[in-house]
Order: sequence, then structure tokens, then C-alpha cells
Amino acid sequence: THFGFQSVTEEEKEEKVYSVFKNVADKYDLMNDAMSGGIHRLWKDHFIRRLNPKQGTKLIDVAGGTGDIAFRFLKYACTENNGNLNDFDFTSDFSAEDFEMPDFESEQLLGNQEHTSHVTVCDINQSMLEVGQGRASQAGINQGISWLKGNAESLPVQDNTFDAYTIAFGIRNCTHIDKVVEEAYRVLKPGGRFMCLEFSRVPNPLIRRVYDEYSFQVIPVLGQILASDWDSYKYLVESIRQFPCQEDFKTLIQTCGFSAVTYENLTFGVVAIHSGFKL
Ligand code: SAM
Repeated sequence: THFGFQSVTEEEKEEKVYSVFKNVADKYDLMNDAMSGGIHRLWKDHFIRRLNPKQGTKLIDVAGGTGDIAFRFLKYACTENNGNLNDFDFTSDFSAEDFEMPDFESEQLLGNQEHTSHVTVCDINQSMLEVGQGRASQAGINQGISWLKGNAESLPVQDNTFDAYTIAFGIRNCTHIDKVVEEAYRVLKPGGRFMCLEFSRVPNPLIRRVYDEYSFQVIPVLGQILASDWDSYKYLVESIRQFPCQEDFKTLIQTCGFSAVTYENLTFGVVAIHSGFKL
């Protein structure tokens, strides 16, 4: 198949990934809900809870797409309910009232900017960023967030800039995942945390069979029905199969210099959260 990337060059893979996300940008959020039965929302909530950002955290969310992680981060880091996402209704859209963002100007006057949380959403694809920006302005979120077009393998960002780095369902689309993790290490401040949420390997063979059947048979069909795009969704399934398993990815993160590297399986290992610190 033309989406089985083993037989294509790196340049072709980059172009293909670009066109996949350009094609799906408009339908991306709808498709996420349809394919996962809404579970991706719970995975993302859990991911932010694990990150547990304090007020004042400067985050870069790489391959941030339409802003799902960024919005959750702001909601978590900028409310008094810090630490308890359960009080929020994540089934509804985000709205400005949820955030209670500090008044940026008065923070500046007080020289108190370290209490202002901020997320930089970085993505290689302008179409995905534009959908994200549209969602943000619809929800009235115009503070604490900036949008940056850039490649995860060579971030347009200075060394030692961020307290935290997140990448959710993005790294498997990159051509050189070692470069992505090295870049994460470079842009984090000492003490900063790397966190990755990604599809992974289901260890139980029985559950794996059911999952494989579902993803190969159902997801491209949903892609065709909801987004008129069989190929892009077939690619998404194949890219999941080619990503390293939990232990191999953990080793790669350690090789790139991170300490205290751990991972946690969610939903039988359908996805995993990897975490590491730059010490
Ligand atoms: N993080 C978002 C989420 O969880 O909903 C979006 C995930 S989406 C499956 C993957 C994103 O990775 C797309 O927006 C795509 O444009 C982006 N992407 C792919 N390759 C990239 C690269 N080399 N650098 C930065 N972003 C990339």
C-alpha cells in the first residue's frame, strides 16, 4: 500500500503526513470522538492530571494540532480547582468562564509573571493550528496561549525555555523520533518534564486481536463515512503498528538523556504515557 511507509522515503513520509492532517483538519475532532468512542478525552484528562501543572508552568505542547492538550492544561493550571479535573464538564466545549485567567497587565505591573501559566502550541501543519485558533477564539481564550508553526524534529525555540513538554498522539507521525526526544530535552529547562501520550502495544494477545480487528476493519470505514477519506485513516492505523513498544520507547527516552523515565499503560496498553525529567 502507498501508506505502508516502510517502502517510502523519509521525504515522502513527511509529505504524506502533511497531507493527511491537512485533509483531516476540519473533521479531526469529530473523528477522534467517533473512533475512540470519546475515550480520547479521558486519556487526555488523565494525561494532564499526571502532569499536574502548577500555576505559572510554561508548557510547550508539540504536535499540538487543534489544541486539545493546551486547553486542558490552561483549564487545569489556571483554576482554583487545580488538581481536580472531575469538577469540570469536559463533554461540553471549553468556555472563557472556565479559565479565570489572571489579568496579564496587572501581573506584569506587579512583576508577578511567574504565576501566569502559558502554553505554546507547536505543530507542523498550519491547517490544524488554524482549527485550534478558531476553537480558542470561539471559547474566548486569548491569553496564556500562543501558536507556533514548527517541526518537532527541529523546534524553532531556544534551549532551556520550558518547564514542561507534552506531545500527544504526535510523535508516531514524525520521521525521526530520536530527534524529537532530543529536541524535547534541549528546549526543557533543567528540572523540566517530558510527557508523551501515544498509542502503544497491547500486551494481552487476546485483547490485541480484538483491538487489531477493530482498528483495521472499522477505523478506515469510519474515515470514509465521516470524512470521505479512507486512506488517511488507514495511514493512522498503520502508523500505530510501526511505533516502538513501551519498553523500547522508554529506552530511547533514556538514551536521549532523560532521568527517572517511567510509563503507564491506559486501556490495556492501547495507549501509554511516558514521562521523564531533564536533571
Ligand atoms: N496533539 C493533538 C491531539 O492530541 O489531539 C493532535 C494529534 S494529531 C493525531 C497529530 C499532529 O501531529 C497533527 O496535527 C500533525 O500536523 C502533527 N505533526 C505531524 N508531524 C509533525 C512534526 N514533524 N512536527 C510537528 N507536528 C507534527
